[in-house]
Amino acid sequence: MTNIRVASQAFFFGLFVFLLWVTWLSRLKGYPASLFLEMDPLVGFATALSTHTVYRHLWWGLFLLVPTLLLGRVFCNWACPYGTLHQVTGWLFNIRNNKNRIEKNRYRPLFQTKYVILGVFLVMAAFGSLQIGLLDPICLLVRTFTVTIIPAVDWGLASLAAQGLTAASSIVFKPATPEPRVFAGAWFVGALILGLVGANLFIPRFFCRVLCPLGAFLGVLSRWALFRIDRDVTKCTDCDLCLKGCEGASDPQGALRKSECFVCFNCIDDCPEDALTFRFNPLPSISQLVKGSPKDGTATLGGLPVISKNLAVEVKAPDVPRRRWLFTAVAGVVAFPFLRFSKDVNKRGFHHKAIRPPGSVAEPEFLERCIKCDQCINVCPTNVLQPAKLAVAGLEGLWTPVMDFSVGFCQLNCTLCSEVCPTGAIQKTSVEKKLGLGAYAEKGPVRLGTAFFDRGRCLPWAMETPCVVCEEVCPTTPKAIGTYDEVFTRWDGKTVTLNKPYMRPELCIGCGICQKECPVVDDAAVYVTAIGESRSDDRTLLLPPGGRYSPPPGPPASRKDARLVPAAEARNGKKTT
Ligand code: SF4
Ligand code: SF4
Repeated sequence: MTNIRVASQAFFFGLFVFLLWVTWLSRLKGYPASLFLEMDPLVGFATALSTHTVYRHLWWGLFLLVPTLLLGRVFCNWACPYGTLHQVTGWLFNIRNNKNRIEKNRYRPLFQTKYVILGVFLVMAAFGSLQIGLLDPICLLVRTFTVTIIPAVDWGLASLAAQGLTAASSIVFKPATPEPRVFAGAWFVGALILGLVGANLFIPRFFCRVLCPLGAFLGVLSRWALFRIDRDVTKCTDCDLCLKGCEGASDPQGALRKSECFVCFNCIDDCPEDALTFRFNPLPSISQLVKGSPKDGTATLGGLPVISKNLAVEVKAPDVPRRRWLFTAVAGVVAFPFLRFSKDVNKRGFHHKAIRPPGSVAEPEFLERCIKCDQCINVCPTNVLQPAKLAVAGLEGLWTPVMDFSVGFCQLNCTLCSEVCPTGAIQKTSVEKKLGLGAYAEKGPVRLGTAFFDRGRCLPWAMETPCVVCEEVCPTTPKAIGTYDEVFTRWDGKTVTLNKPYMRPELCIGCGICQKECPVVDDAAVYVTAIGESRSDDRTLLLPPGGRYSPPPGPPASRKDARLVPAAEARNGKKTT
């Protein structure tokens, strides 16, 4: 059985890495790139709680419930790629003797923690704050691969390619960008995975046993599983050897904890007396059929003497006291306002750099949907999508995707991020819709934000140095960045003509290419903020009533003509020209 299980784990881990690989190459070719996320029942259930809808393929999570209700937490040790990672590292660094392994694999009350985490996340989801992605194992692993492992592999391959081994970089994770991609806060995500993997040295399968909310979710359902491990007390000598390789710490030597059992079957393989079987659960447990008492040596079963002194049957439900469930509910209720009324994500103050990818829903709904899986960040070919840091999106929006135009820009004909988003935080969109073509012409293009000039840094404005890079790269037709000639007397007394850029905000779609290509590379002289984004009614430029800024015909003769309406005037509804 162990060989079949290992083959299953290898298959699912390989499939997981393969799907990450095609996503990273930004060539989806019809592959179900987000299959694991869409089949994650916790993702489906929690987003249904927060949004009251089931987006696209999230109902696929129901497929995983079938084996769970039949066999128990079979996913945890047969298919979960994160579980496989922990199991393999535990196996690689196994330095314990049998006695020590048996002690480490006994059940501990600490394992209740995952149920508390699950409860808090679900209560928060019911209030509209979706935080399961912080610890859901599939989200955690996709995020870790995306922002740390794959870029590191790319970097290694690029180094090999530099040494002449070009085949290496073309075979495996060839980056879609010319250089290995970089990600904000990658060190923290990397440190987190190292910490979680390292914790296996102290408690085997630490994450799975202590923290995993998906494991807890499946554990709750497993109480109704039709099959489970059962112990023949006429054979069991209470040697506890079945605990030696128990992955779930489910106490097969005593009262089997159904919600903790990973169905790894190691206990069955390790039992020297063949006392353990995996059997149909509605039948009475073997211990329940015992007559007499093991204490005075009169216990018998079917005429055979009972050897084991432990006749405990099973613990069906998760071992969490009622009071702790209550604490969980209260903690979830209390945590919600703490997060939501943090200024960074509240609509009264959300950050000007929280620029979301095209197709994103309005910010409050975005936070109800985004599971921080970073699958969109993985597929983005230009590296513009970055995991949001605390300073930009607060704790509630941590690791959600934001656009950083100092790193990349949004390609006009690309909608990849909308194709892979499993939860609809970025709604599936088309190039026509994104660019406002055909049936969408009246609505116009999707605007991600608006570009502004920092005239204190812009080369023509601040340093009287010719530069029109931003105007040249602006992809809109007509261009959102125009230029005009200004004749003036320079510091050395010469009369010169300088071509100066100016912004036409009504044409800007916030793609960020001007910011990316600006020769002032550290802190660009033209930069995009989220104001004017089409998904929001709150973040709009305060412009004249009845219309946006309308430029005079032809290029303005001076910057006075290009002025925007001051906020106060616009608020008061004054007509200005
Ligand atoms: S649409 Fe823009 S943000 Fe999304 S994947 Fe493409 S380039 Fe990246
Ligand atoms: S927006 Fe990105 S990080 Fe959020 S759920 Fe969608 S794909 Fe995952």
